[in-house]
Amino acid sequence: MATVIDGKAVAQTIRSEITDEVRLLSEKYGKVPGLAVVIVGNRQDSESYVRTKRKACADLGIKNFDIDLPEQISEAEVIKHVHQLNADPNVHGILVQLPLPKHINEEKVLTEISLEKDVDGFHPLNIGKLAMKGRDPLFVPCTPKACLELLSRSGVSIKGKRAVVVGRSNIVGLPVSLLLLKADATVTIAHSHTSQPEDIIREADIVIAAARQAKMIKGSWIKPGAAVIDVGTNSVDDPTRKAGYRLVGDVDFEEASKVAGWITPVPGGVGPMTVTMLLKNTLESAKRSIEQN
Ligand code: NDP
Repeated sequence: MATVIDGKAVAQTIRSEITDEVRLLSEKYGKVPGLAVVIVGNRQDSESYVRTKRKACADLGIKNFDIDLPEQISEAEVIKHVHQLNADPNVHGILVQLPLPKHINEEKVLTEISLEKDVDGFHPLNIGKLAMKGRDPLFVPCTPKACLELLSRSGVSIKGKRAVVVGRSNIVGLPVSLLLLKADATVTIAHSHTSQPEDIIREADIVIAAARQAKMIKGSWIKPGAAVIDVGTNSVDDPTRKAGYRLVGDVDFEEASKVAGWITPVPGGVGPMTVTMLLKNTLESAKRSIEQN
């Protein structure tokens, strides 16, 4: 049976490490990291993600800068807020919660975030540096960073291993592939046009599943002893639950956990780690800024 990687426990460990570092910064320089979370409109799911991020900041001693903007605000006004946050020395990270209302060009807004404060790591220059040999981005996107942190804290070595990433989105699949490549894995990316992905996945020592396809990856697709990181978060109907649904990953956990060496559960695997990586990026940004000045 696979070792189940407990994302909640790993996240807790990292959060207490961050809390200690925040305290040290405060004692030494009288300053704490600051994160601005910008939300436009009243989407319920976005409001809930933003609440989680702001609470996590408060729990760890990171200062929140809440920017709550109305749905009808113009693109120019949103960009003005981003510029103000860029100029504020107490703000070390800026996160614009997506999606933005349809009349606002997301790419345009995200590109306005100062490179030094792009704690989500989605600025094209950060992604570009992630892709280039010998260059290092200032920030790595949070979910991909979470995947690698889970592997390294579980003692899974990456160098020289065959890794298969299922999915190629800008948010997860592509950046996690680039990170694995930087860590010297031999990386294959499968996507919706890949024929017989099972044949490719069977060769992988490391599988990162980010396809948004409930239980797509079967136990028989997994190489015995492989490390399986399941990013997928899909809700499926479940009349036995009070909510009427439950969350499952892109991997059939029941089957795969009998074959894999390590596996993350859904929920409780990558999910709790993603916000923790946002806090870590904010801390790193604050340290860079405070220690330089
Ligand atoms: P997207 O929907 O943006 O991308 C899905 C990717 O999977 C695409 O590249 C798509 O290919 C590929 N794909 C779709 N079907 C198949 C298939 N049958 N075989 C192989 N590849 C396929 O999703 P995201 O990257 O944003 O998210 C992926 C999953 O991770 C989702 O379930 C999401 O909920 C979850 N997630 C979890 C987070 C967490 O913190 N736990 C954070 C972010 C995401 P193509 O490019 O050809 O369309």
